[in-house]
Amino acid sequence: MSEPSWTSTGAPTPDAETILGALGDFVVVVAPDGTLAAMNETAASMVGRSPGDLVGEPVLNSLHPDDLEATTELLMRYARGVDLYRPVIRLQRTDGSPVAVEFIGQRHDTETGRYLIFSGRAEPVLDSEEVISGIGIGVVIANAAGEIIESNPAAATLLAGTNEALQGPASEIGTRFTRPDSDPTEDVEHPMSRALREQQVVTERLAVTTPTGTTHVVDVEARPVSVRYSGPAAVLMTLTDVSARHAAEAALVRAATTDDLTGVANRSTFMELVDARIDRSEPGDVAVLFCDLDRFKSVNERFGHGEADRLLRRFAHEMTEALAGTTIGRFGGDEFAVAADITDVGELDDLAEAIRGAARRASLATLHVVVTASVGASWTGDDARDATEIQTAAQLIEEADEALRRAKRTGRDRFAFFDHTMRDLRSEQTRMARQLRDHLADERVEIAIQPVIDPRDGRVSGGEALARIRDEHGELIPAARWIDAATRAGLIQAVDEQVIRLASQLLGQLHASAGDTPAELLPVIGVNLSDGTMARPDLFEWLTSQLTDAGAPTSGLVIEIPETVFPVIRDRSADALRQLKAAGLWVAIDDFGVGYASLAEVRDLPIDTLKIDRSFVIADQGTPEEAILRAAIEMSRAMNCRSVAEGVETQHQLELMLALGVDYVQGYFTSRPLPHDEFVDFSRSAHPIR
Ligand code: C2E
Ligand code: MG
Ligand code: MG
Repeated sequence: MSEPSWTSTGAPTPDAETILGALGDFVVVVAPDGTLAAMNETAASMVGRSPGDLVGEPVLNSLHPDDLEATTELLMRYARGVDLYRPVIRLQRTDGSPVAVEFIGQRHDTETGRYLIFSGRAEPVLDSEEVISGIGIGVVIANAAGEIIESNPAAATLLAGTNEALQGPASEIGTRFTRPDSDPTEDVEHPMSRALREQQVVTERLAVTTPTGTTHVVDVEARPVSVRYSGPAAVLMTLTDVSARHAAEAALVRAATTDDLTGVANRSTFMELVDARIDRSEPGDVAVLFCDLDRFKSVNERFGHGEADRLLRRFAHEMTEALAGTTIGRFGGDEFAVAADITDVGELDDLAEAIRGAARRASLATLHVVVTASVGASWTGDDARDATEIQTAAQLIEEADEALRRAKRTGRDRFAFFDHTMRDLRSEQTRMARQLRDHLADERVEIAIQPVIDPRDGRVSGGEALARIRDEHGELIPAARWIDAATRAGLIQAVDEQVIRLASQLLGQLHASAGDTPAELLPVIGVNLSDGTMARPDLFEWLTSQLTDAGAPTSGLVIEIPETVFPVIRDRSADALRQLKAAGLWVAIDDFGVGYASLAEVRDLPIDTLKIDRSFVIADQGTPEEAILRAAIEMSRAMNCRSVAEGVETQHQLELMLALGVDYVQGYFTSRPLPHDEFVDFSRSAHPIR
């Protein structure tokens, strides 16, 4: 650096004194004896005096007493010719308060001795130490080597658990940063090192444990800072203690992601966790096991809600203990799901066994009885899968749930996994739903009518209109094969609509061609109504207008409602049923015996036909089925209903029905479901059985 020099045109210029006096920056000249030889207005005003008061005084008189020693040292260094980089000293104002100034010093040798000239900006410099020690957030400054050169008490408390200023390398002050709420053995790079390394601002929420063992959660900001004029040289870190806020936030997150009762993940969190597992499981597989407790409903009834809740909590706890490394979620009620990474299908059995063991232990511990669990499983690695198929938690859960339902159907305390047959069934169902959608769009749904016959004289008393669609070869597909798919796809009500229109047309035609036959001797036609159709607010108006439009008598239609649906529609549709009844329609309970409707539940509804499910009709004498069959017939008599035995397939069964006093039979033995015209012909004559 070249010496600063003064250049002018040579024309007369104001003298040095005038120039220095007019400067905004302060200038002080110290004489060889340590007195103030000269100074400008600016310098004197900094301590609240005038130059006349100070010139001739020892320079040390204007300094803050605390800095006397340091300044003396400073002056000596300058006198020796040592260059110092912009030191800061504190002066003392007339009121005793300190004012810090940053300055540049120079020697000036004359014959009379060595003068020192100090100059600098007159703005006071903040005392950084004072500023940072007073604030509540932790402040740490380290040099480029990572050594702490400045810190405040707040930082010391957070990082070292002491009140003393931190010193030494940032990484060695006992600070171990970790991520809050995750593995405490996993170290995180010191934010100051990272900021230095990356030369950019690092902001993170971290946990820090002091050597005394206290853990704080802190929001950290570490930024490289440069010393003026000389580039990056240090890193400044601030630490805000957010332990309380973080705990409150964590509690909120916990409440939103876990199940209140058991503390395991709730449904949506479970799904998210499983999706995350699937994403990172390559090349391993993810298994989902879906389970519920067998007969939990009766546990609830027998032991009460309190005990049932205790059982669920215990079950969750036992599973958590037995299934380390898995994700456990509760889906509501007694339904739980477990997700695990597996490398072999065989592990599914072990997982299922662990779940069932947990159920046994939980029930023994809480209720002193054994409650079993049924489990269904599905996994990503199933080779029957299409390799391009995208796996999601939702899909695995749906499959595991389907497997669970199969496990339940085959008995309790079972384990089943989603296999080829279930997969085939499912793809068939998808195909069926597609075909049905096409049929509905072009109004191509058909009906086949199965005659209902009085077994005593063979007379056709009526028929049941059953929905049919056709496969690609034009063959009829019975409803049994696609009705579930239709229900799941939300198409069942549309099916009901087309079937009712066709049935009304059939009735209208039977009526028109009846001739002299009195209306009450014409066959009645049954239609099956889904839950959704029964829930139509305009059920009565809609049904009656369908019949009127087709020229059919209202007394010709029987609406069949499955027994399982009755409890659902009981309150909702009771009025509509009464209205329909009053208009002359017939109401039948379908598939009677498979549901749990009690006499009390159906007695006050206007029912006039009980169709006994065919699973009881296969009955051989002396079997439980026969007992149920007898009871059902008894019940229909008590309710003043007609009884119909469904699914009569053999002469033997027919004899049995006659002996038991069933009013009507419907089954393959007397007739399969028939196309429209064949049914019309069939209904015109009697078909005596013996
Ligand atoms: P469902 O109402 O109980 O109808 C009787 C079912 O048993 C019919 O099956 C019929 O073909 C069959 N069946 C009749 N006799 C025998 C027999 O002797 N042996 C055997 N094994 N089966 C016999 P389908 O037509 O496949 O209908 C199945 C179920 O689908 C019906 O049971 C009914 O619940 C439902 N369904 C049919 N059509 C409709 C509809 O239009 N709307 C609604 N919501 N459901 C319908
Ligand atoms: Mg039916
Ligand atoms: Mg039935």
